[in-house]
Amino acid sequence: MNASSSADDGDPAKQLFLRPALSLFIVLALLTFSCNNKDSRKETPALPIIDSTLVRQQQQKAADSIAKAAVLKKKIYITFDDGPNKGTRNVLAAVKEENIPASFFIVGVHIFDSPRQKETWEMLKSDTSIERCNHSYTHAHNRYTSFYEQPGKVVDDFKQAQKTAGFTNSIARMPGRNAWRIDTIDHTDIYESKAAIDSLHQAGFAIMGWDIEWMFDHKTLAVDTATGLLLRRIDNMLAAGKTKTPGHLVLLAHDQAFQKTEDIEKLHYVIQQLKNNPDYELQLASQYPGVKH
Ligand SMILES: [Zn+2]
Repeated sequence: MNASSSADDGDPAKQLFLRPALSLFIVLALLTFSCNNKDSRKETPALPIIDSTLVRQQQQKAADSIAKAAVLKKKIYITFDDGPNKGTRNVLAAVKEENIPASFFIVGVHIFDSPRQKETWEMLKSDTSIERCNHSYTHAHNRYTSFYEQPGKVVDDFKQAQKTAGFTNSIARMPGRNAWRIDTIDHTDIYESKAAIDSLHQAGFAIMGWDIEWMFDHKTLAVDTATGLLLRRIDNMLAAGKTKTPGHLVLLAHDQAFQKTEDIEKLHYVIQQLKNNPDYELQLASQYPGVKH
């Protein structure tokens, strides 16, 4: 190799020029590297964009599976009849404490039976987590046969309750009868009542009966203590698709059966078993399939 071609060949003029030039080149190279590095740092936010898209997809997937599980859950509608009476405040307190939706089928005349019942009614009215539905004005004075013989009077009785209580839905339950007129469900338990129930339906009411009744002793007013059996019956009916609408079960209980501490404790127990069951979801009467708001 020709040594004279080297930059460091001892020529002072060349050295005078080349050394600063080399230094400048190094400085420029370093600056360029530094700028490139800065640019590449500017572009790194592209990674979090990919990450957030993935996160959004995963969140959507999780939300979809939760929604799917909710659809698959069997629905239970807990309903309480005949209030306001001496058990109603206990039922309302239990429902609020357990934080569940529940529907109260009200007897219009009971609102005015005593100042305390009027007060209880005001408590029911101001609660947004529950639903109030029509259970007639007079409850047929508990003389069902003669009541159902006069369809026009039955309709008037329910209209009076509707007007007095100002219900915000048109869901009705017949006194002393387990009858249904909702969407495609047409069921009459005692044929002699059919004309009156049809008239009430034609007057615009959705009539809801029940699938299972939580019985109570009509003399002592104590609730049936066989809560395990009640819960098994609920499970079995839903599993066998034996309810009026498969996958949906209406449970009937009565306010007046929850006046004593031991009965109120049983109410808490049944509510807890149902609300904590991952296969079930508690809902309001107006959420029942086919019921119009
Ligand atoms: Zn009743």
